[in-house]
Amino acid sequence: SMGLMAGKRGLIMGLANDKSIAWGIAQQLAAQGAEIAFSYQGEALKKRVEPLAASIGMNTFVECDVSDEASMDALFAELAAKWGKIDFLVHAIGFSDKNELRGRYVDTSRQNFLMTMDISVYSFTAVCQRAAAMMTEGGSLLTLTYYGAEKVMPHYNVMGVAKAGLEASVKYLAEDLGKDGIRVNAISAGPIKTLAASGIGDFRYIMKWNELNSPLRRNVTQDEVGKAALYLLSDLGSGTTGENLHVDAGYHVVGMKAVDAPDI
Ligand code: NAD
Repeated sequence: SMGLMAGKRGLIMGLANDKSIAWGIAQQLAAQGAEIAFSYQGEALKKRVEPLAASIGMNTFVECDVSDEASMDALFAELAAKWGKIDFLVHAIGFSDKNELRGRYVDTSRQNFLMTMDISVYSFTAVCQRAAAMMTEGGSLLTLTYYGAEKVMPHYNVMGVAKAGLEASVKYLAEDLGKDGIRVNAISAGPIKTLAASGIGDFRYIMKWNELNSPLRRNVTQDEVGKAALYLLSDLGSGTTGENLHVDAGYHVVGMKAVDAPDI
């Protein structure tokens, strides 16, 4: 097939439903000729993931819980058996106890701190270890992060600390894997109403705030994140690694918003 991703094969991890950021990315990659395998967490998600993937012509799905080393090994063994090598990988996974995504960060428990770091930070490194071994002709790895890593955002709490760790790990991974022609990047997406986001306290207010205060005066869509992912995962992004690309309607550059109504 034709397109920016023609002849490229890869894995998308974290598709839960048609609101998932992973779905916005999958659609853009498929439209450019990519061949995509999907991993999903738990058999319950299979009935959602399968028809979505089928609607864009894909039929490879593997169950994988990223907190389980054996599950990860099985996923990559299956991919290796099917394709031998891969060209790209998308990690669109994060998790924390939603009881700690409201209120104060200072109240975070040790148990949820460690679980959040394991699923939301370490899993990307664990994925990179295995995927890099299959990227024998170079490749591109991508994860998803949020501005709450850089600045304090209401209710983001332990997930903000996790995303800071994830963003730092992107830089270290980029250095380690760069000599093998493998690029590692993150997209820092503005707030998008997904299943994971619905666990964050006052999420509607956060979306409204971003809409009112970002330079573009609106929120971003999963398609816009998908288009940025296409750049990073295709040859268009061949000179970019270790980057944190903000797809947030410009929100991250604003220190103080200008007054729209001049008479205030
Ligand atoms: P989503 O709920 O659609 O996706 C989250 C995915 O993580 C789900 O598919 C879930 O099954 C998976 N997951 C959780 N624990 C897992 C585990 N142990 N093993 C395997 N998979 C597991 O929500 P989303 O918003 O599309 O989230 C994707 C990524 O985007 C996350 O890293 C999230 O933090 C990030 N992000 C989201 C927003 C937003 O506003 N929605 C903004 C910036 C960054």
